[in-house]
Amino acid sequence: MTPVIEAHDLSRSFGKGTTEVLAVTQVSLRIGAGELLMLMGPSGSGKTTLLAMLGCILKPSSGRIRVLGKEVSALSSRALARLRGETIGFVFQGFNLLSALTAWENVALVGDFLKMRPGNIRSRAVEMLKKIGLGHRIHHLPADLSAGEKQRVAFARALLNSPRILLADEPTANLDADNRDMVVGLLRQAVEEQNVSVIIATHDERIQRVADRIVRMEDGQLTDDRKHPPSGPIGARIAQMDP
Ligand code: ADP
Ligand code: MG
Repeated sequence: MTPVIEAHDLSRSFGKGTTEVLAVTQVSLRIGAGELLMLMGPSGSGKTTLLAMLGCILKPSSGRIRVLGKEVSALSSRALARLRGETIGFVFQGFNLLSALTAWENVALVGDFLKMRPGNIRSRAVEMLKKIGLGHRIHHLPADLSAGEKQRVAFARALLNSPRILLADEPTANLDADNRDMVVGLLRQAVEEQNVSVIIATHDERIQRVADRIVRMEDGQLTDDRKHPPSGPIGARIAQMDP
């Protein structure tokens, strides 16, 4: 089976000469469909840099990435934008919501970029928000939403176009225990229901239980890669969540 993402010897440095920083060094990784991979490591270990390369928003200094069998470096910028838009959903650290737009407008914005039909965008955005329990917050501005609600809007936005790949950078940072559970539950749910491949970059050891696989990084290198059968009755937990 073709991996959804295949990275070979990826490296990325920033700066030049004496100030050069090797953020990621020769990382090779294959990620399959419906796999929830947790990328763990201390702050500064290269998680965000690796995630950005896997999401095709940052060019590697060297190495290769294939997404759904396509060699990313061989794509024109237009084809790359299309692949990214149609295939990859990104939940950035710190939500990245536009403060002047309401919850549904923040979600719908993506559909506009992707040139979805306006009628479809609206109904799909509202459907996504309802699905994650924000049906009563559709017209709220980010300032009037809690941290957990903002993170859910960011998820709805990332999932608007039913991506095959969902990348989330520190999605549980600044969330309390309930919201943390809810957010990792939503990620797990995307895997179970839509066979999405999910990569979560995190240094939060408390959310490991939803992972199928845990990859560890230190100083830009992979130091460990092991299967992790999600423990506990996750299905039951998800079923309890308020849709
Ligand atoms: P993590 O997400 O694990 O905290 P990062 O990928 O953000 O790690 O950073 C890895 C290393 O690369 C760090 O030393 C960081 O300072 C450096 N780095 C990341 N992005 C940049 C950048 N845009 N310019 C310079 N250095 C960077
Ligand atoms: Mg980071």
